[in-house]
Amino acid sequence: MEYIKSKIRDVLDFPSKGIVFKDLTTAFKDPRALHIIGWDLSQLYRDKGVTKVVGIESRGFIGGSILAFELGAGFVPARKPGKLPADVVRMTYDKEYGTDTIEMHSDAIGPDDIVVIHDDVLATGGTMAAAYNLVKSMNPKKIYINFIIELESLGGRANLPADVDVTSLITY
Ligand code: AMP
Repeated sequence: MEYIKSKIRDVLDFPSKGIVFKDLTTAFKDPRALHIIGWDLSQLYRDKGVTKVVGIESRGFIGGSILAFELGAGFVPARKPGKLPADVVRMTYDKEYGTDTIEMHSDAIGPDDIVVIHDDVLATGGTMAAAYNLVKSMNPKKIYINFIIELESLGGRANLPADVDVTSLITY
């Protein structure tokens, strides 16, 4: 884990002043760090019968795809509005300024699915809470939530459902 941490770059004041952005591109471009991330993520879910991994646009697509591949599960994108071509379901949620919306194909998840929803970073948890509600509306058997990084000081877990199993590889 220390090795992965050593490859994560802190970018100050991105995307706005006062934010310390955890940049995972420097870990993803390092073959050893990428391998460890993929392996460690998959170890968390090996025995859980996961059938689909939902990745949140766009940084959640990277770890989410690797996790799906490692588990022998399918991959489902949760995207910004207007990007998915077929019939969609959507969830609008409050952000610090204004609102945001995410969409998924309405046939992406079914009642037999065991789902992991993955994003790269847990900050306030608003994005993941919306993704969770969207996946939940499609009535899968079980939902897990996973991040590579959790920013504990922002308290994002409190915005996620208390009865859901939430994991993260690295905490700050
Ligand atoms: P949240 O506040 O949890 O809804 O985060 C919104 C999105 O922005 C998530 O997809 C996170 O991956 C990303 N994000 C928020 N804060 C950071 C940060 N400090 N470093 C990297 N990514 C972040």
